[in-house]
Amino acid sequence: MNAVKTQKKVGIDLYKGVIDDSLFDEVVALAKKLKDVRVCHVNATSYGGGVAEILQKEIPLARGMGLHFDWKTVSAKDEFFDVTKKIHNGLQGADLKISEKEWDIYQSCNIDQVRRINPNDYDVFFIHDPQPAEIVSCIGKNGAKWVWRCHIDTAEPNQAIADYFLKFLNMYDAAIFTMKEYVFKGMEEDIFIIEPAIDPLAIKNRHLSHREAANLVRGFHIDVTKPLVTQVSRFDPWKDPMGVVDAYKIAKKEIPELQLAMVGSMADDDPEGMEIYEELKEYAGDDKDIYVLTNHDALHDIEVNAFQAFSDVIVQKSIREGFGLTVSEALWKETPVIGGNVGGIPTQIRDGETGFLVNNVEECAEKIEYLVQNKDAAKQMGRKGKEDVREKFLLPRLLRDELRLIEKILG
Ligand code: UDP
Repeated sequence: MNAVKTQKKVGIDLYKGVIDDSLFDEVVALAKKLKDVRVCHVNATSYGGGVAEILQKEIPLARGMGLHFDWKTVSAKDEFFDVTKKIHNGLQGADLKISEKEWDIYQSCNIDQVRRINPNDYDVFFIHDPQPAEIVSCIGKNGAKWVWRCHIDTAEPNQAIADYFLKFLNMYDAAIFTMKEYVFKGMEEDIFIIEPAIDPLAIKNRHLSHREAANLVRGFHIDVTKPLVTQVSRFDPWKDPMGVVDAYKIAKKEIPELQLAMVGSMADDDPEGMEIYEELKEYAGDDKDIYVLTNHDALHDIEVNAFQAFSDVIVQKSIREGFGLTVSEALWKETPVIGGNVGGIPTQIRDGETGFLVNNVEECAEKIEYLVQNKDAAKQMGRKGKEDVREKFLLPRLLRDELRLIEKILG
């Protein structure tokens, strides 16, 4: 297990005026009450994907409020992440089988983590997602409270894989899911439904002027005088990158100057990324208006911000999606979003009001055309979307919900 270093402490006062006063007061009061509780978050990676994104911001905010929050990541060989990506896919419903040998790799890595963590050092553990989930049965609860935080869309899991987890998930004191539809059948512990959130103060989400955003996007040879559609996502089949290209190709028949940016980072715990990236590049063919970009092209948080702010439309055409932080990130920048009508996306997009929910490539193409050709309507949708995010999906609300949970389970 590795301790993760984050940005220094961040004070809650910086959020004054950004979030509602009642939320501000509640989170401050809870933090005061729980300042002596020692909390440890454990997940698979400190870089790439939504969980790392959240913890990178949540830990400094919690510490800035005087809370004792630590963050550790699993330390493991590549073979472990190959297995856990399969497990992740299976829990999202993929029809696949985990062999005995693969379960052994999974379990022995969880046992291995135990040597690197002292359960007596903490009062509450938040274990994120399937990768470190078995730690609790390897280490024993040791008087601490254990919370399993599931970020993925487990509405229709591959039952054989879900059954493996159910054997020890019931050791947890509580479990958090993003939506009630994701709760595994047969769970006995306390269930909490908590939606993830974005940090409005992060470099990725801070306000950029149109000119700043355009300059950054232009750095990737994009023509800023022509319309741009972007999807920001790991290169993962559940994010349907090929479907986005198909939708773009249909829309391009109507709007010949249309450009598409596929922006994707390579997460440390996602071995599929490079493969899908190569496939996507091939699929895009020799269309000079498609840009497939990654963090290896010096595309970091500020550039992601610029793409989300500058694009005429952000697409998140997932076919499974636990939540999809990218949706709230784009809406926060007043950019309308076309999202797959799955998982946590409909909780963020009001169909026809702040973007569109689509069920197939053709619908996606049609809505791209509409938003590119109706700029005033698109702008209005984006503005409404930002207000929704302010109300429901900003970081202090997430911290408040976790503190409420801690208060409840510690009695
Ligand atoms: N992200 C990024 N660069 C990229 C692609 C994604 O920084 O090239 C970030 C994105 O902005 C978001 C996170 O990775 O904050 C992805 O979270 P999300 O919940 O959308 O999906 P996940 O990867 O967890 O399935």
